[in-house]
Amino acid sequence: MSRRPFDWEAVLDALSAQYRAGDWRVPYLRDHAESPFQVLIGTILSQRTRDANTDRASLALFARFPDAPSLARARPSEVEPLIRATGFYRVKARVIVATARELLGRFGGEVPRELAPLLTLPGVGPKTANCVLVFGYGIPGVPVDTHVHRIANRLGVVRTRTPEDTEERLRATVPQRYWIPLNPLLVQHGQNLCRPHRPQCGRCPIAEHCATGRALRNGRRPPRPEDAPPARRPPRTPARRGGPSRQSRGAAGRRSR
Ligand code: SF4
Repeated sequence: MSRRPFDWEAVLDALSAQYRAGDWRVPYLRDHAESPFQVLIGTILSQRTRDANTDRASLALFARFPDAPSLARARPSEVEPLIRATGFYRVKARVIVATARELLGRFGGEVPRELAPLLTLPGVGPKTANCVLVFGYGIPGVPVDTHVHRIANRLGVVRTRTPEDTEERLRATVPQRYWIPLNPLLVQHGQNLCRPHRPQCGRCPIAEHCATGRALRNGRRPPRPEDAPPARRPPRTPARRGGPSRQSRGAAGRRSR
């Protein structure tokens, strides 16, 4: 018997309905980045840092250097204090200034619209290049960050060790019409309910579609061992009231020998 294909339409619809209203965290790139350039630089800043730090640093940076020409003219030392919140800020300052200079020198100040040239820019890997396509240009791509990698494995649609492998599997199995909403909805889910530690499966609108949600509900092992609930220890037998403590029993034993 063939397995039913994963119902991406139902999952993305349910997530979209969940996060349409309410006081939820919103991925920075979805609502704030104003140009392909800001998507590109914002995604480089997001590497190895928390979302809130990326938000703060991006706001400060783009208020002063909103485009490639202005950032290409900057000295890294001018950029560093603006992006300090992201960690590794000295390296990142050098990288994003170099990226802006390459955009001016090789691409006439424009951010490329294809993966291959994007991947030749400093600091740009598959996730960043795909983010530029999706958020900068509205071109289908599959950006896989830690949220997408974790949730795809929790859902049971991939069984992968690295985000690169996850990207490859999702590209092969998710119909292209779902690629654009896939990242922002999974990232938002990862920031709010399907968080790295202790996902809130009881409040999750896609638990029925999720291998982890179903496994935890039925007391089975989830696909990722780290999502299993901690093993229960047997309750400790309470010491009898008024009885001798272990220390006094030992002392008494020694005295009687
Ligand atoms: S059921 Fe739990 S693990 Fe699955 S997507 Fe929802 S919150 Fe995440």
